[in-house]
Amino acid sequence: MIYLDNSATTKIDPRVLKAMLPYLQEEYGNPSAKYYTLAENAKRAVEKSRENLAKLINCEPDELIFTSGASESNNFILKGIADFYSNKGNHIITSLVEHSSILETCNYLESKGFEVTYLGVNQYGQVDPNELKKVITKKTILVSIIWGNNEIGTLNKIKEIGQICREHNVFFHSDATQVLGKIKIDVQDVPVDFLSFSAHKLYGPKGIGACFIRKDELGLKREITPLIHGGGQEFGYRAGTLCTHNIVGFGKAAEIAYNEMDNYIPNIIKLENELKAKLESEIKGIKFNGHPIEKIPGILSVTIPGVNNELLIRKLKNQVAFSTGSACSFNKPSKVLLAIGMNLKEIRNTIRISIGKFNSDIQKIPELIKSC
Ligand code: PLP
Repeated sequence: MIYLDNSATTKIDPRVLKAMLPYLQEEYGNPSAKYYTLAENAKRAVEKSRENLAKLINCEPDELIFTSGASESNNFILKGIADFYSNKGNHIITSLVEHSSILETCNYLESKGFEVTYLGVNQYGQVDPNELKKVITKKTILVSIIWGNNEIGTLNKIKEIGQICREHNVFFHSDATQVLGKIKIDVQDVPVDFLSFSAHKLYGPKGIGACFIRKDELGLKREITPLIHGGGQEFGYRAGTLCTHNIVGFGKAAEIAYNEMDNYIPNIIKLENELKAKLESEIKGIKFNGHPIEKIPGILSVTIPGVNNELLIRKLKNQVAFSTGSACSFNKPSKVLLAIGMNLKEIRNTIRISIGKFNSDIQKIPELIKSC
């Protein structure tokens, strides 16, 4: 089986699993408990993971909190900002190509009286920063724009967008789930206030994610209404006993990405370019979606005339795994592909191939597709 759905999830790195296991066995202390060694060990492991993730994005460790995943991080930031800053304004700006955990949260906030502007995108799936300038009003409290798209791989102009938000004194959040460990993220260079992440896209475990929450101008913690109230864990932003083993797994995955990204990303790009060239030469009329250069390494959105994507995936299900688009929007036409101007027929002809660091030989993919 050739696994090419690495944007849906990744296989856990064996070193990540190894790092996690002690925290499911002998090191079972609660990191929030006090004074005894078992608790101290767990607390130390959590803080080490926070440091590893902080190193990967160049922030302070206490600017990161752990969540259950990027869906929760997205919900927390959007709902938390909307609630806490509602006296300042009721307007949120996002785009048509966000993950469902942003779009559905925006729908929910609209039902609570917030106004949401959904920016369109160009043919590659990018938000035009000038369009953003036009729609910011005095009531805008938050802009949330995806960093790199999960379906077509296109990268947004996050630095420019962040600068516009700074100039207008508006918070800026970006869903960075698909870019962590694939492109360099440096929050000292990019004016972003909040980021969302998920470990399972990074060869880490499922059910664990994080939020970057930049401190304010005075170096104080930014105030946001918590999504989960309770015991005050995670600096009061997110209550609940910490999932130590998953946090340790995320930390190890971040450490590996920090040390090894420069080795495995060029290999992913090489595999992608070779596959793209082979698909182009062997399948007539094939089309690639998304930006050809400003893109996440490894994601290929491919439209193959005359092919039904669902049937193709089912026919090849024991040989290869790829997807019609986002794993979270199966059975609905992709909003991302609609937003870049594709019609329903083209969308049905489209598959997403996402290459990861464990892939090696994927050259028989065109042959497999042609055999269907
Ligand atoms: N945001 C993006 C861009 C994603 O690709 C995903 C996962 O598919 C998510 C958010 C949700 O992540 P999680 O599975 O950790 O909730």
